[in-house]
Amino acid sequence: MFCPNCGNERVSDATIYCNRCGFLLTGTAELIANGGVSPTALATTHTNAISPRKRGLKQGLFIFLLTFLVVPIVSILTVAIGAQPFAVAISAIALFMGGLLRMVYALMFESGEPGGATLEQKGAALVQQMIAKQNAAALPESRMAPAQDFMAPQRGDWRDTTDLEPSSVTESTTRLLSNQEKE
Ligand SMILES: [Zn+2]
Repeated sequence: MFCPNCGNERVSDATIYCNRCGFLLTGTAELIANGGVSPTALATTHTNAISPRKRGLKQGLFIFLLTFLVVPIVSILTVAIGAQPFAVAISAIALFMGGLLRMVYALMFESGEPGGATLEQKGAALVQQMIAKQNAAALPESRMAPAQDFMAPQRGDWRDTTDLEPSSVTESTTRLLSNQEKE
């Protein structure tokens, strides 16, 4: 084979790099061996060939079909023990409804695209985005206050509540009232 970068011929398969330009040749060798398809791409397309919805439908169908296997076994056991057929009814309803609900869930909530993210994965990604945004917003803006601008708080002309004379307030109010009465 030849180097895809400079066209120099690869002398032996033992050399990983092109001896002329230093191009890594292992990937190219794999491409040639796989007929031009990269092995990693092949692996990902293979695993993601089935969509989550199809997988869910299959699971639902499997549970649904289990009804026809489990229910006869349970009924045989019930007859053998001579017990009331509650277990038969419960297992039949649970598997029948469970399978149907699994299929309905797959149809309604799971992605039909092969390798598509499920609702849970999408939700998790959204939450992560929101947290990242919040963190970015929570960071305080960089404010530079020069140290020489700092002024020490001075003691103001504060009055304590004990300085106020409650009687004076009442007197003034009474005076105001009596003035109004005179008019
Ligand atoms: Zn080369």
